[in-house]
Amino acid sequence: MTEQSSLPETEITFESLNLADPITKALEGLGYEKPSPIQARTIPLLLEGRDVVGLAQTGTGKTAAFALPVLSKLAEVDERHDSPQVLVLAPTRELALQVAEAFTSYAAHIPTVSVVPVYGGSSYGPQLAGLRRGATIVVGTPGRVIDHLERGSLDLSDLKYLVLDEADEMLRMGFAEDVDRILSEAPDGKQTALFSATMPRAIQRITGDYLNNPEQVEVAGQSKPAQNIRQRYLQVAQPWKLEAMTRLLETEETDGIITFVRTRNMVEELTSKLIARGFAAAAISGDIPQNLREKTVNDLRAGRIDILVATDVAARGLDVERISHVINYDIPHDTASYVHRIGRTGRAGRQGDAILLMTPRERYLLRSIEKATKQSVEEMQLPSLDEVNASRRAAFAEEITKTIASQVESDEFSVYRDLVANYIEEHNVAAVDIAAALAMMAQDGRPLEAAEPDLPPMNMRGRRKEQQSGERSSRPKRPSKEGQATYWIAVGHKDRVGPGNIVGAIANEANIDTSDIGDIQIRPTFSLVELPEKLSHQQEEALKNAVVGGRKLNLRLDRGAPKSFDSRGSRGGGFDGAQRGQKKKQRWSKTKKRSDFNS
Ligand code: ADP
Ligand code: MG
Repeated sequence: MTEQSSLPETEITFESLNLADPITKALEGLGYEKPSPIQARTIPLLLEGRDVVGLAQTGTGKTAAFALPVLSKLAEVDERHDSPQVLVLAPTRELALQVAEAFTSYAAHIPTVSVVPVYGGSSYGPQLAGLRRGATIVVGTPGRVIDHLERGSLDLSDLKYLVLDEADEMLRMGFAEDVDRILSEAPDGKQTALFSATMPRAIQRITGDYLNNPEQVEVAGQSKPAQNIRQRYLQVAQPWKLEAMTRLLETEETDGIITFVRTRNMVEELTSKLIARGFAAAAISGDIPQNLREKTVNDLRAGRIDILVATDVAARGLDVERISHVINYDIPHDTASYVHRIGRTGRAGRQGDAILLMTPRERYLLRSIEKATKQSVEEMQLPSLDEVNASRRAAFAEEITKTIASQVESDEFSVYRDLVANYIEEHNVAAVDIAAALAMMAQDGRPLEAAEPDLPPMNMRGRRKEQQSGERSSRPKRPSKEGQATYWIAVGHKDRVGPGNIVGAIANEANIDTSDIGDIQIRPTFSLVELPEKLSHQQEEALKNAVVGGRKLNLRLDRGAPKSFDSRGSRGGGFDGAQRGQKKKQRWSKTKKRSDFNS
Protein backbone atom coordinates (compact mmCIF):
# COMPACT_ATOMS: atom_id res chain seq x y z
CA MET A 1 0.00 0.00 0.00
CA THR A 2 2.63 2.49 0.96
CA GLU A 3 4.58 1.74 -2.17
CA GLN A 4 1.53 2.36 -4.25
CA SER A 5 0.91 5.73 -2.71
CA SER A 6 4.48 6.71 -3.47
CA LEU A 7 3.97 6.11 -7.17
CA PRO A 8 4.11 9.46 -8.93
CA GLU A 9 1.30 10.84 -11.02
CA THR A 10 0.74 10.41 -14.75
CA GLU A 11 -2.08 11.35 -17.11
CA ILE A 12 -1.99 8.22 -19.26
CA THR A 13 -4.58 5.52 -18.56
CA PHE A 14 -4.22 1.74 -18.83
CA GLU A 15 -7.01 1.73 -21.45
CA SER A 16 -5.00 4.02 -23.72
CA LEU A 17 -2.08 1.58 -23.65
CA ASN A 18 -4.02 -1.07 -25.59
CA LEU A 19 -3.12 -4.00 -23.42
CA ALA A 20 -4.92 -7.28 -24.11
CA ASP A 21 -8.31 -7.64 -22.40
CA PRO A 22 -7.31 -10.28 -19.85
CA ILE A 23 -4.58 -7.92 -18.63
CA THR A 24 -6.89 -4.95 -18.21
CA LYS A 25 -9.25 -7.21 -16.35
CA ALA A 26 -6.48 -8.38 -14.00
CA LEU A 27 -5.45 -4.78 -13.33
CA GLU A 28 -9.01 -3.92 -12.42
CA GLY A 29 -9.03 -6.81 -10.01
CA LEU A 30 -5.83 -5.54 -8.44
CA GLY A 31 -7.18 -2.01 -8.18
CA TYR A 32 -4.42 -0.35 -10.18
CA GLU A 33 -5.89 2.94 -11.33
CA LYS A 34 -3.35 4.16 -13.79
CA PRO A 35 0.14 3.39 -14.97
CA SER A 36 3.13 4.82 -13.16
CA PRO A 37 5.43 7.02 -15.26
CA ILE A 38 7.90 4.24 -16.02
CA GLN A 39 5.02 2.00 -17.05
CA ALA A 40 3.42 4.69 -19.18
CA ARG A 41 6.65 5.15 -21.08
CA THR A 42 8.01 1.63 -21.47
CA ILE A 43 4.81 -0.35 -22.09
CA PRO A 44 4.16 1.19 -25.56
CA LEU A 45 7.79 0.59 -26.59
CA LEU A 46 7.77 -3.03 -25.45
CA LEU A 47 4.41 -3.65 -27.16
CA GLU A 48 5.99 -2.32 -30.34
CA GLY A 49 8.77 -4.87 -30.03
CA ARG A 50 11.58 -2.52 -29.11
CA ASP A 51 14.46 -3.37 -26.78
CA VAL A 52 14.22 -1.11 -23.74
CA VAL A 53 16.41 0.14 -20.91
CA GLY A 54 14.23 1.40 -18.06
CA LEU A 55 15.74 3.44 -15.27
CA ALA A 56 13.68 4.36 -12.24
CA GLN A 57 13.97 4.24 -8.49
CA THR A 58 12.73 1.39 -6.35
CA GLY A 59 9.00 1.29 -5.85
CA THR A 60 8.11 2.95 -9.15
CA GLY A 61 6.42 -0.14 -10.60
CA LYS A 62 9.15 -1.55 -12.81
CA THR A 63 7.85 -5.12 -12.59
CA ALA A 64 4.55 -4.32 -14.23
CA ALA A 65 6.41 -2.13 -16.73
CA PHE A 66 7.80 -5.28 -18.34
CA ALA A 67 5.35 -7.93 -17.18
CA LEU A 68 2.24 -6.29 -18.61
CA PRO A 69 3.40 -5.84 -22.24
CA VAL A 70 5.03 -9.28 -22.33
CA LEU A 71 1.90 -10.97 -20.98
CA SER A 72 -0.26 -8.93 -23.27
CA LYS A 73 1.61 -10.27 -26.27
CA LEU A 74 1.47 -13.83 -24.99
CA ALA A 75 -2.28 -13.49 -24.41
CA GLU A 76 -2.79 -12.62 -28.04
CA VAL A 77 -1.22 -15.87 -29.22
CA ASP A 78 -4.08 -18.21 -28.45
CA GLU A 79 -2.26 -21.46 -27.83
CA ARG A 80 -0.49 -23.18 -24.97
CA HIS A 81 3.16 -22.24 -24.62
CA ASP A 82 4.99 -25.31 -23.46
CA SER A 83 8.55 -24.13 -23.86
CA PRO A 84 9.85 -21.05 -22.08
CA GLN A 85 8.91 -17.89 -23.95
CA VAL A 86 10.02 -15.47 -21.26
CA LEU A 87 13.06 -15.47 -19.01
CA VAL A 88 13.39 -12.92 -16.23
CA LEU A 89 16.64 -12.70 -14.28
CA ALA A 90 16.48 -11.23 -10.79
CA PRO A 91 19.27 -10.84 -8.23
CA THR A 92 17.86 -12.66 -5.22
CA ARG A 93 15.48 -15.41 -4.35
CA GLU A 94 13.09 -12.90 -2.75
CA LEU A 95 13.01 -10.69 -5.80
CA ALA A 96 12.62 -13.67 -8.13
CA LEU A 97 9.66 -14.85 -6.07
CA GLN A 98 8.14 -11.38 -6.02
CA VAL A 99 8.40 -11.05 -9.77
CA ALA A 100 6.98 -14.54 -10.30
CA GLU A 101 4.06 -13.70 -8.04
CA ALA A 102 3.46 -10.45 -9.89
CA PHE A 103 3.42 -12.31 -13.23
CA THR A 104 1.01 -14.84 -11.81
CA SER A 105 -1.39 -12.17 -10.63
CA TYR A 106 -1.24 -10.18 -13.87
CA ALA A 107 -1.80 -13.43 -15.80
CA ALA A 108 -4.82 -14.46 -13.73
CA HIS A 109 -7.07 -14.44 -16.79
CA ILE A 110 -4.65 -15.95 -19.29
CA PRO A 111 -5.09 -19.73 -19.03
CA THR A 112 -2.34 -20.45 -21.58
CA VAL A 113 0.62 -19.30 -19.53
CA SER A 114 2.37 -20.72 -16.50
CA VAL A 115 5.06 -19.17 -14.33
CA VAL A 116 7.92 -21.08 -12.69
CA PRO A 117 10.41 -19.45 -10.32
CA VAL A 118 13.85 -21.04 -10.10
CA TYR A 119 16.20 -20.01 -7.35
CA GLY A 120 18.71 -21.44 -4.96
CA GLY A 121 17.92 -22.59 -1.48
CA SER A 122 15.22 -25.02 -2.36
CA SER A 123 15.38 -28.47 -3.77
CA TYR A 124 15.39 -29.04 -7.48
CA GLY A 125 12.35 -31.32 -7.45
CA PRO A 126 9.46 -28.85 -7.72
CA GLN A 127 11.39 -26.59 -10.05
CA LEU A 128 12.25 -29.48 -12.35
CA ALA A 129 8.67 -30.67 -12.29
CA GLY A 130 7.49 -27.16 -13.09
CA LEU A 131 9.89 -26.86 -15.98
CA ARG A 132 9.00 -30.32 -17.26
CA ARG A 133 5.30 -29.54 -17.16
CA GLY A 134 6.03 -26.74 -19.58
CA ALA A 135 6.73 -23.30 -18.16
CA THR A 136 5.92 -20.26 -20.27
CA ILE A 137 7.64 -17.80 -17.99
CA VAL A 138 10.74 -18.61 -16.01
CA VAL A 139 11.90 -16.20 -13.32
CA GLY A 140 15.21 -17.02 -11.73
CA THR A 141 18.45 -16.01 -10.12
CA PRO A 142 21.39 -16.17 -12.56
CA GLY A 143 23.26 -18.96 -10.78
CA ARG A 144 20.31 -21.30 -10.71
CA VAL A 145 19.32 -20.51 -14.29
CA ILE A 146 22.77 -21.49 -15.49
CA ASP A 147 22.52 -24.62 -13.47
CA HIS A 148 19.29 -25.62 -15.18
CA LEU A 149 20.79 -24.77 -18.55
CA GLU A 150 23.67 -27.10 -17.82
CA ARG A 151 21.44 -29.90 -16.63
CA GLY A 152 19.41 -29.50 -19.76
CA SER A 153 16.29 -28.87 -17.74
CA LEU A 154 15.89 -25.38 -19.15
CA ASP A 155 15.74 -24.88 -22.88
CA LEU A 156 15.94 -21.35 -24.17
CA SER A 157 15.73 -22.14 -27.87
CA ASP A 158 12.17 -20.85 -28.15
CA LEU A 159 12.72 -17.77 -26.00
CA LYS A 160 10.94 -14.60 -27.18
CA TYR A 161 11.53 -12.20 -24.29
CA LEU A 162 14.41 -11.74 -21.90
CA VAL A 163 14.31 -9.32 -18.98
CA LEU A 164 17.11 -8.30 -16.64
CA ASP A 165 15.40 -6.96 -13.55
CA GLU A 166 17.21 -4.89 -10.91
CA ALA A 167 20.26 -5.14 -13.14
CA ASP A 168 22.49 -2.92 -11.02
CA GLU A 169 21.83 -5.02 -7.94
CA MET A 170 22.49 -8.18 -9.93
CA LEU A 171 25.93 -6.93 -10.92
CA ARG A 172 26.62 -5.67 -7.44
CA MET A 173 26.02 -9.19 -6.19
CA GLY A 174 28.71 -10.50 -8.49
CA PHE A 175 26.54 -12.00 -11.20
CA ALA A 176 28.11 -10.15 -14.15
CA GLU A 177 29.63 -13.23 -15.73
CA ASP A 178 26.59 -15.37 -15.22
CA VAL A 179 24.45 -12.71 -16.82
CA ASP A 180 26.87 -12.45 -19.73
CA ARG A 181 26.74 -16.14 -20.23
CA ILE A 182 22.96 -16.34 -20.21
CA LEU A 183 22.64 -13.41 -22.56
CA SER A 184 25.09 -14.88 -25.01
CA GLU A 185 23.41 -18.30 -24.93
CA ALA A 186 19.91 -16.95 -25.47
CA PRO A 187 18.77 -17.12 -29.09
CA ASP A 188 18.90 -14.15 -31.46
CA GLY A 189 15.69 -12.48 -32.43
CA LYS A 190 14.34 -12.24 -28.89
CA GLN A 191 13.26 -8.97 -27.38
CA THR A 192 15.35 -7.79 -24.43
CA ALA A 193 14.57 -5.35 -21.65
CA LEU A 194 16.78 -4.19 -18.82
CA PHE A 195 15.45 -2.49 -15.71
CA SER A 196 17.59 -0.86 -13.12
CA ALA A 197 17.59 1.91 -10.54
CA THR A 198 20.96 3.21 -11.68
CA MET A 199 23.11 3.00 -14.77
CA PRO A 200 26.68 2.10 -13.78
CA ARG A 201 29.22 1.57 -16.52
CA ALA A 202 28.93 -2.20 -16.38
CA ILE A 203 25.29 -1.92 -17.34
CA GLN A 204 26.05 0.40 -20.21
CA ARG A 205 28.41 -2.29 -21.46
CA ILE A 206 25.79 -5.04 -21.24
CA THR A 207 23.31 -2.81 -22.98
CA GLY A 208 25.78 -2.11 -25.77
CA ASP A 209 26.74 -5.77 -26.14
CA TYR A 210 23.39 -7.48 -26.00
CA LEU A 211 20.52 -5.09 -26.61
CA ASN A 212 19.35 -4.27 -30.08
CA ASN A 213 19.10 -0.53 -30.65
CA PRO A 214 17.47 -0.05 -27.27
CA GLU A 215 15.36 2.92 -26.32
CA GLN A 216 16.40 4.30 -22.94
CA VAL A 217 13.64 5.53 -20.68
CA GLU A 218 14.54 7.35 -17.52
CA VAL A 219 12.13 8.52 -14.89
CA ALA A 220 13.73 11.15 -12.73
CA GLY A 221 13.46 10.97 -9.00
CA GLN A 222 11.70 13.77 -7.24
CA SER A 223 13.75 16.93 -6.92
CA LYS A 224 11.76 18.50 -4.13
CA PRO A 225 11.21 17.22 -0.62
CA ALA A 226 7.59 16.50 0.24
CA GLN A 227 5.68 19.15 2.16
CA ASN A 228 4.99 16.87 5.10
CA ILE A 229 8.65 16.80 6.12
CA ARG A 230 9.82 19.37 8.64
CA GLN A 231 13.42 20.29 7.87
CA ARG A 232 15.79 21.62 10.53
CA TYR A 233 19.53 21.95 10.95
CA LEU A 234 21.82 22.11 13.91
CA GLN A 235 25.16 23.81 13.61
CA VAL A 236 27.75 21.84 15.51
CA ALA A 237 31.53 21.47 15.52
CA GLN A 238 32.73 18.11 14.23
CA PRO A 239 33.91 16.73 17.60
CA TRP A 240 30.53 17.54 19.15
CA LYS A 241 28.50 15.62 16.61
CA LEU A 242 28.10 12.42 18.58
CA GLU A 243 27.06 14.35 21.69
CA ALA A 244 24.64 16.40 19.61
CA MET A 245 23.23 13.26 18.06
CA THR A 246 22.72 11.65 21.47
CA ARG A 247 20.96 14.72 22.80
CA LEU A 248 18.68 14.79 19.78
CA LEU A 249 17.84 11.14 20.23
CA GLU A 250 16.99 11.77 23.87
CA THR A 251 14.89 14.88 23.41
CA GLU A 252 13.09 14.44 20.09
CA GLU A 253 9.93 12.40 20.01
CA THR A 254 11.04 9.65 17.72
CA ASP A 255 9.89 6.33 16.40
CA GLY A 256 12.15 4.76 13.76
CA ILE A 257 15.22 6.74 12.77
CA ILE A 258 17.57 6.57 9.86
CA THR A 259 20.83 8.42 10.11
CA PHE A 260 23.08 9.05 7.14
CA VAL A 261 26.85 9.26 7.11
CA ARG A 262 29.21 9.73 4.25
CA THR A 263 31.44 6.66 4.33
CA ARG A 264 31.17 2.98 5.04
CA ASN A 265 33.76 3.24 7.79
CA MET A 266 31.72 5.91 9.42
CA VAL A 267 28.67 3.64 9.29
CA GLU A 268 30.48 1.05 11.38
CA GLU A 269 31.93 3.62 13.73
CA LEU A 270 28.74 5.50 14.45
CA THR A 271 26.75 2.29 14.85
CA SER A 272 29.06 0.92 17.48
CA LYS A 273 29.15 4.22 19.34
CA LEU A 274 25.38 4.43 19.41
CA ILE A 275 25.14 0.85 20.61
CA ALA A 276 27.72 1.61 23.30
CA ARG A 277 25.47 4.46 24.43
CA GLY A 278 22.56 2.10 24.76
CA PHE A 279 20.63 2.76 21.57
CA ALA A 280 19.19 -0.06 19.46
CA ALA A 281 21.13 0.71 16.30
CA ALA A 282 22.27 -1.32 13.30
CA ALA A 283 24.26 -0.63 10.16
CA ILE A 284 23.53 -0.94 6.48
CA SER A 285 26.10 0.00 3.89
CA GLY A 286 27.29 -1.13 0.51
CA ASP A 287 29.74 -3.38 2.35
CA ILE A 288 26.91 -5.43 3.70
CA PRO A 289 25.31 -7.90 1.32
CA GLN A 290 21.79 -7.38 0.11
CA ASN A 291 20.05 -10.12 2.04
CA LEU A 292 21.61 -9.06 5.31
CA ARG A 293 20.55 -5.50 4.56
CA GLU A 294 17.02 -6.73 3.96
CA LYS A 295 17.04 -8.45 7.32
CA THR A 296 18.24 -5.29 9.08
CA VAL A 297 15.55 -3.22 7.40
CA ASN A 298 12.97 -5.74 8.57
CA ASP A 299 14.35 -5.42 12.08
CA LEU A 300 13.73 -1.69 11.85
CA ARG A 301 10.26 -2.23 10.45
CA ALA A 302 9.39 -4.62 13.27
CA GLY A 303 10.83 -2.36 15.98
CA ARG A 304 13.64 -4.75 16.92
CA ILE A 305 15.97 -1.85 16.28
CA ASP A 306 15.21 1.88 16.27
CA ILE A 307 18.13 3.42 14.47
CA LEU A 308 19.50 2.51 11.11
CA VAL A 309 22.90 3.97 10.26
CA ALA A 310 23.31 4.06 6.50
CA THR A 311 25.09 5.35 3.45
CA ASP A 312 23.16 6.81 0.53
CA VAL A 313 23.58 3.75 -1.62
CA ALA A 314 22.45 1.27 0.99
CA ALA A 315 19.29 3.17 1.81
CA ARG A 316 18.12 3.64 -1.72
CA GLY A 317 14.40 3.26 -2.08
CA LEU A 318 13.97 2.25 1.54
CA ASP A 319 10.33 2.38 2.48
CA VAL A 320 9.62 1.96 6.18
CA GLU A 321 6.53 3.66 7.53
CA ARG A 322 7.72 4.02 11.08
CA ILE A 323 10.70 6.21 10.21
CA SER A 324 9.82 9.43 12.03
CA HIS A 325 13.24 11.05 11.69
CA VAL A 326 16.01 11.27 9.19
CA ILE A 327 19.16 12.58 10.81
CA ASN A 328 21.90 13.64 8.45
CA TYR A 329 24.94 13.08 10.61
CA ASP A 330 27.02 14.22 7.66
CA ILE A 331 25.72 16.73 5.19
CA PRO A 332 25.27 15.25 1.70
CA HIS A 333 27.20 16.90 -1.09
CA ASP A 334 24.40 17.25 -3.56
CA THR A 335 20.78 18.19 -3.50
CA ALA A 336 19.56 14.97 -5.08
CA SER A 337 20.90 12.84 -2.28
CA TYR A 338 19.59 15.27 0.33
CA VAL A 339 16.13 15.00 -1.17
CA HIS A 340 16.37 11.25 -1.42
CA ARG A 341 17.65 10.88 2.14
CA ILE A 342 14.96 12.93 3.79
CA GLY A 343 12.32 11.28 1.62
CA ARG A 344 12.85 8.15 3.75
CA THR A 345 10.59 9.76 6.36
CA GLY A 346 7.09 11.11 5.95
CA ARG A 347 6.02 7.85 4.29
CA ALA A 348 2.41 6.98 3.68
CA GLY A 349 1.28 10.53 4.29
CA ARG A 350 2.68 10.73 7.81
CA GLN A 351 4.50 13.68 9.26
CA GLY A 352 8.28 13.39 9.11
CA ASP A 353 11.28 15.18 10.59
CA ALA A 354 14.63 15.78 8.94
CA ILE A 355 17.53 17.10 10.99
CA LEU A 356 20.88 18.01 9.54
CA LEU A 357 24.07 18.23 11.59
CA MET A 358 26.19 20.82 9.90
CA THR A 359 29.63 22.14 10.79
CA PRO A 360 30.11 25.90 10.41
CA ARG A 361 32.24 25.38 7.33
CA GLU A 362 29.52 23.42 5.58
CA ARG A 363 27.06 26.28 5.65
CA TYR A 364 27.58 26.93 1.95
CA LEU A 365 26.40 23.38 1.19
CA LEU A 366 23.21 23.98 3.10
CA ARG A 367 22.68 27.23 1.21
CA SER A 368 22.97 25.47 -2.11
CA ILE A 369 20.51 22.79 -1.03
CA GLU A 370 18.05 25.45 0.07
CA LYS A 371 18.46 27.22 -3.21
CA ALA A 372 17.97 24.11 -5.31
CA THR A 373 14.92 22.89 -3.40
CA LYS A 374 13.50 26.40 -3.00
CA GLN A 375 12.76 25.51 0.61
CA SER A 376 14.37 26.87 3.71
CA VAL A 377 15.74 24.72 6.47
CA GLU A 378 14.98 26.00 9.95
CA GLU A 379 17.77 26.43 12.49
CA MET A 380 17.54 24.57 15.78
CA GLN A 381 19.61 24.75 18.97
CA LEU A 382 21.57 21.98 20.60
CA PRO A 383 19.27 20.58 23.29
CA SER A 384 20.69 21.65 26.66
CA LEU A 385 21.60 19.24 29.42
CA ASP A 386 18.57 20.48 31.33
CA GLU A 387 16.37 19.48 28.44
CA VAL A 388 18.06 16.09 28.17
CA ASN A 389 17.59 15.51 31.88
CA ALA A 390 14.00 16.64 31.79
CA SER A 391 13.25 14.07 29.12
CA ARG A 392 15.11 11.36 31.01
CA ARG A 393 13.05 12.12 34.12
CA ALA A 394 9.88 12.12 32.08
CA ALA A 395 10.83 8.81 30.49
CA PHE A 396 11.58 7.29 33.88
CA ALA A 397 8.26 8.51 35.28
CA GLU A 398 6.51 7.10 32.22
CA GLU A 399 8.08 3.69 32.95
CA ILE A 400 6.70 3.78 36.48
CA THR A 401 3.24 4.67 35.23
CA LYS A 402 3.33 1.89 32.66
CA THR A 403 4.59 -0.70 35.10
CA ILE A 404 1.92 0.11 37.65
CA ALA A 405 -0.79 0.09 35.00
CA SER A 406 0.22 -3.24 33.56
CA GLN A 407 1.41 -5.05 36.70
CA VAL A 408 -0.71 -3.84 39.60
CA GLU A 409 -2.91 -6.93 39.45
CA SER A 410 -0.10 -9.41 39.03
CA ASP A 411 1.06 -11.86 41.70
CA GLU A 412 4.62 -10.72 41.35
CA PHE A 413 3.61 -7.13 42.02
CA SER A 414 1.85 -8.14 45.23
CA VAL A 415 4.97 -9.96 46.40
CA TYR A 416 6.88 -6.69 46.18
CA ARG A 417 4.04 -4.70 47.65
CA ASP A 418 4.05 -6.96 50.73
CA LEU A 419 7.81 -6.77 50.95
CA VAL A 420 7.76 -2.98 50.95
CA ALA A 421 4.89 -2.84 53.46
CA ASN A 422 6.80 -5.12 55.82
CA TYR A 423 9.91 -3.06 55.35
CA ILE A 424 8.13 0.14 56.29
CA GLU A 425 6.73 -1.48 59.39
CA GLU A 426 10.07 -2.89 60.50
CA HIS A 427 12.35 0.01 59.67
CA ASN A 428 10.11 2.99 60.03
CA VAL A 429 11.26 4.50 56.73
CA ALA A 430 9.13 6.67 54.47
CA ALA A 431 7.74 4.97 51.38
CA VAL A 432 9.28 7.67 49.18
CA ASP A 433 12.77 6.85 50.47
CA ILE A 434 12.26 3.19 49.75
CA ALA A 435 11.05 4.01 46.26
CA ALA A 436 14.12 6.17 45.68
CA ALA A 437 16.39 3.36 46.84
CA LEU A 438 14.63 0.94 44.49
CA ALA A 439 14.97 3.39 41.61
CA MET A 440 18.71 3.54 42.20
CA MET A 441 18.86 -0.23 42.29
CA ALA A 442 16.97 -0.33 39.01
CA GLN A 443 19.43 2.09 37.45
CA ASP A 444 22.20 -0.26 38.47
CA GLY A 445 24.89 2.37 38.78
CA ARG A 446 23.89 4.47 35.78
CA PRO A 447 23.16 8.01 36.91
CA LEU A 448 19.79 9.24 35.68
CA GLU A 449 21.02 12.74 35.00
CA ALA A 450 23.49 13.43 32.23
CA ALA A 451 26.72 15.13 33.23
CA GLU A 452 28.55 17.76 31.25
CA PRO A 453 30.61 15.93 28.64
CA ASP A 454 34.27 16.80 28.54
CA LEU A 455 34.83 17.47 24.92
CA PRO A 456 37.03 19.63 22.74
CA PRO A 457 39.53 20.99 22.50
CA MET A 458 41.04 18.54 24.96
CA ASN A 459 39.42 15.52 23.38
CA MET A 460 40.09 16.40 19.80
CA ARG A 461 43.33 14.57 19.54
CA GLY A 462 42.19 11.54 21.40
CA ARG A 463 39.30 11.25 19.07
CA ARG A 464 41.43 11.42 15.99
CA LYS A 465 43.56 8.60 17.20
CA GLU A 466 40.57 6.55 18.08
CA GLN A 467 39.18 7.14 14.64
CA GLN A 468 42.31 5.93 12.98
CA SER A 469 42.64 2.79 14.97
CA GLY A 470 38.91 2.39 14.65
CA GLU A 471 39.26 2.32 10.92
CA ARG A 472 41.30 -0.83 11.02
CA SER A 473 39.17 -2.65 13.47
CA SER A 474 35.94 -1.09 12.32
CA ARG A 475 34.97 -4.49 10.97
CA PRO A 476 35.06 -6.26 14.26
CA LYS A 477 37.34 -9.22 13.96
CA ARG A 478 35.17 -12.17 13.40
CA PRO A 479 37.14 -15.05 14.82
CA SER A 480 36.41 -18.44 13.39
CA LYS A 481 33.15 -18.86 15.13
CA GLU A 482 32.19 -21.76 17.27
CA GLY A 483 30.23 -24.13 15.07
CA GLN A 484 31.92 -23.03 11.85
CA ALA A 485 33.91 -25.32 9.60
CA THR A 486 36.15 -24.83 6.62
CA TYR A 487 34.85 -26.04 3.29
CA TRP A 488 36.62 -26.57 0.02
CA ILE A 489 35.04 -25.37 -3.20
CA ALA A 490 36.20 -26.03 -6.74
CA VAL A 491 36.50 -22.47 -7.99
CA GLY A 492 39.54 -20.25 -7.66
CA HIS A 493 41.39 -17.42 -9.33
CA LYS A 494 41.56 -19.37 -12.56
CA ASP A 495 37.77 -19.19 -12.78
CA ARG A 496 38.00 -15.47 -12.30
CA VAL A 497 35.78 -15.43 -9.25
CA GLY A 498 35.83 -12.81 -6.54
CA PRO A 499 34.59 -13.09 -2.97
CA GLY A 500 31.41 -11.35 -4.08
CA ASN A 501 30.47 -14.11 -6.50
CA ILE A 502 31.06 -16.73 -3.87
CA VAL A 503 29.10 -14.99 -1.13
CA GLY A 504 26.27 -14.24 -3.56
CA ALA A 505 26.02 -17.84 -4.75
CA ILE A 506 26.26 -19.40 -1.30
CA ALA A 507 23.76 -17.03 0.25
CA ASN A 508 21.28 -17.48 -2.58
CA GLU A 509 21.69 -21.13 -3.40
CA ALA A 510 21.82 -22.51 0.13
CA ASN A 511 19.81 -19.76 1.76
CA ILE A 512 22.61 -19.18 4.25
CA ASP A 513 22.62 -15.89 6.09
CA THR A 514 25.61 -13.87 4.95
CA SER A 515 26.62 -13.28 8.55
CA ASP A 516 27.24 -17.03 8.72
CA ILE A 517 29.68 -16.89 5.85
CA GLY A 518 33.12 -16.38 7.34
CA ASP A 519 36.54 -16.01 5.79
CA ILE A 520 36.94 -16.73 2.12
CA GLN A 521 40.38 -17.51 0.77
CA ILE A 522 40.65 -17.63 -2.97
CA ARG A 523 43.54 -19.76 -4.22
CA PRO A 524 44.62 -20.38 -7.80
CA THR A 525 42.52 -23.50 -8.40
CA PHE A 526 40.15 -23.67 -5.43
CA SER A 527 38.90 -21.63 -2.50
CA LEU A 528 38.30 -22.17 1.19
CA VAL A 529 35.17 -20.85 2.83
CA GLU A 530 34.07 -20.84 6.43
CA LEU A 531 30.47 -21.89 6.82
CA PRO A 532 28.32 -23.38 9.55
CA GLU A 533 29.57 -26.82 10.52
CA LYS A 534 26.08 -28.23 10.36
CA LEU A 535 24.56 -27.77 6.95
CA SER A 536 21.30 -29.46 6.11
CA HIS A 537 21.39 -32.17 3.49
CA GLN A 538 19.51 -29.83 1.19
CA GLN A 539 22.03 -27.05 1.70
CA GLU A 540 24.92 -29.38 1.08
CA GLU A 541 23.38 -30.61 -2.14
CA ALA A 542 22.64 -27.05 -3.20
CA LEU A 543 26.24 -26.07 -2.62
CA LYS A 544 27.68 -29.09 -4.38
CA ASN A 545 25.69 -28.21 -7.46
CA ALA A 546 25.77 -24.44 -7.34
CA VAL A 547 27.69 -22.89 -10.20
CA VAL A 548 30.01 -19.92 -9.91
CA GLY A 549 32.13 -18.59 -12.73
CA GLY A 550 30.79 -21.37 -14.92
CA ARG A 551 31.99 -24.14 -12.63
CA LYS A 552 30.22 -26.35 -10.12
CA LEU A 553 31.31 -25.68 -6.55
CA ASN A 554 31.51 -29.39 -5.55
CA LEU A 555 31.57 -28.24 -1.96
CA ARG A 556 33.11 -30.58 0.62
CA LEU A 557 34.55 -30.32 4.09
CA ASP A 558 38.17 -29.36 3.82
CA ARG A 559 40.16 -31.97 5.68
CA GLY A 560 43.51 -30.33 5.09
CA ALA A 561 42.16 -27.03 6.24
CA PRO A 562 43.62 -26.41 9.64
CA LYS A 563 47.11 -26.83 8.34
CA SER A 564 46.80 -24.77 5.26
CA PHE A 565 44.99 -22.10 7.19
CA ASP A 566 47.66 -22.06 9.86
CA SER A 567 50.44 -21.78 7.39
CA ARG A 568 48.76 -18.65 6.19
CA GLY A 569 48.33 -17.50 9.71
CA SER A 570 44.65 -16.87 9.49
CA ARG A 571 43.52 -19.45 11.98
CA GLY A 572 46.41 -19.16 14.36
CA GLY A 573 45.69 -15.50 14.87
CA GLY A 574 48.89 -14.55 13.14
CA PHE A 575 47.07 -12.12 10.95
CA ASP A 576 47.60 -8.65 12.24
CA GLY A 577 44.79 -6.17 12.26
CA ALA A 578 45.79 -4.46 9.08
CA GLN A 579 45.95 -7.58 7.01
CA ARG A 580 42.76 -8.79 8.48
CA GLY A 581 41.03 -5.54 7.65
CA GLN A 582 42.34 -5.77 4.14
CA LYS A 583 41.05 -9.25 3.70
CA LYS A 584 37.66 -8.36 4.99
CA LYS A 585 37.41 -5.43 2.72
CA GLN A 586 38.17 -7.58 -0.23
CA ARG A 587 35.73 -10.12 0.92
CA TRP A 588 32.73 -7.85 0.91
CA SER A 589 33.69 -5.62 -1.90
CA LYS A 590 31.34 -6.94 -4.51
CA THR A 591 31.55 -3.91 -6.69
CA LYS A 592 35.29 -4.24 -6.87
CA LYS A 593 36.46 -4.51 -10.40
CA ARG A 594 36.85 -8.04 -11.51
CA SER A 595 40.32 -7.39 -12.79
CA ASP A 596 41.38 -6.86 -9.21
CA PHE A 597 40.70 -10.49 -8.55
CA ASN A 598 42.22 -11.76 -11.74
CA SER A 599 45.81 -11.06 -11.07
P1 ADP B 1 10.10 -1.54 -8.48
O1 ADP B 1 10.47 -2.81 -9.19
O2 ADP B 1 10.22 -0.34 -9.35
O3 ADP B 1 10.84 -1.36 -7.20
P2 ADP B 1 7.57 -2.83 -8.10
O4 ADP B 1 7.37 -3.32 -9.47
O5 ADP B 1 8.03 -3.83 -7.10
O6 ADP B 1 8.56 -1.59 -8.09
O7 ADP B 1 6.22 -2.13 -7.62
C1 ADP B 1 6.06 -1.54 -6.36
C2 ADP B 1 4.64 -1.66 -5.87
O8 ADP B 1 3.76 -0.86 -6.63
C3 ADP B 1 4.09 -3.08 -5.95
O9 ADP B 1 3.42 -3.33 -4.75
C4 ADP B 1 3.12 -3.03 -7.10
O10 ADP B 1 2.06 -3.95 -6.94
C5 ADP B 1 2.63 -1.61 -7.06
N1 ADP B 1 2.24 -1.07 -8.37
C6 ADP B 1 2.92 -1.20 -9.54
N2 ADP B 1 2.29 -0.54 -10.53
C7 ADP B 1 1.20 0.02 -9.99
C8 ADP B 1 0.14 0.83 -10.51
N3 ADP B 1 0.11 1.21 -11.78
N4 ADP B 1 -0.83 1.23 -9.66
C9 ADP B 1 -0.80 0.85 -8.37
N5 ADP B 1 0.16 0.09 -7.81
C10 ADP B 1 1.15 -0.33 -8.61
MG1 MG C 1 11.71 -4.30 -8.95
